[in-house]
Amino acid sequence: LIRFDRVTKRFGTNTVLDSLDFTVSSGKHVTLIGPSGSGKTTILRLLMTLLKPDEGTIKVGGEYLTHEKKGEKLVPAGEKHTREVRKNIGMVFQQFNLFPNMKVLRNVTEAPVHVLGMSKEAAEERAHELLDLVGLTEHVDKYPTQLSGGQQQRVAIARALAMRPQVLLLDEVTSALDPELVAGVLDVLRDIAHTTDITMLCVTHEMNFARDISDDVLMFDAGRVIESGPPEKIFTEPEHERTREFLSAVL
Ligand code: ATP
Repeated sequence: LIRFDRVTKRFGTNTVLDSLDFTVSSGKHVTLIGPSGSGKTTILRLLMTLLKPDEGTIKVGGEYLTHEKKGEKLVPAGEKHTREVRKNIGMVFQQFNLFPNMKVLRNVTEAPVHVLGMSKEAAEERAHELLDLVGLTEHVDKYPTQLSGGQQQRVAIARALAMRPQVLLLDEVTSALDPELVAGVLDVLRDIAHTTDITMLCVTHEMNFARDISDDVLMFDAGRVIESGPPEKIFTEPEHERTREFLSAVL
């Protein structure tokens, strides 16, 4: 469903991703781990088209995200093409980025109504289901500032799912939360991972969570995947010295 093909991304002289290849199959849950600065967030930002690669191609659902076909030729994607492909992708950020002037329900219905053209009634029905799924049924009429950080993050998850994306990107979604609020958010995500067929790509420092939900773990170092495999293998018998060092520092 996601394919990175020889993707290179530089910031000035800093090569953050170095001819990176990886794929995520439909319905799989893949976690990116690795030291700070190894390029994990950059991958998610490329998928959200907040950044463009310097070299290489990215495909989502069989379509190029970065390029489009003009006849036989592959040319850099235009705005319209990018928007269409990106509709398949939802993202939850470290900072929840809710619309502060809208109540919880409207935060969840806004994009389905305005981007997908759903009727207000259908969008609200779906929003109620999703807010129920994330345990916020009683809070639909509140503004984001009236909620805890953990509750706000759960609204952000419901909001991302409301667009019915094929892929959910999670970027250190619990890093900005007080410790006692982390478990509630991770429980919701575990539930989603285990009960839906959504494809997930997560960057997280929560290794127990990664172990619970991942089909595959990719260990990054210096812009490359140095080791990958099922969590049982990566967490218990990593092959690479860098992986062992990293895990002994975070576990
Ligand atoms: P962390 O776990 O700390 O979030 P990460 O693996 O997600 O790290 P990235 O955020 O992808 O790492 O950053 C990789 C490198 O790219 C870092 O060296 C960072 O300083 C650099 N970088 C990221 N965004 C920019 C930018 N907009 N301009 C310049 N350099 C950037």
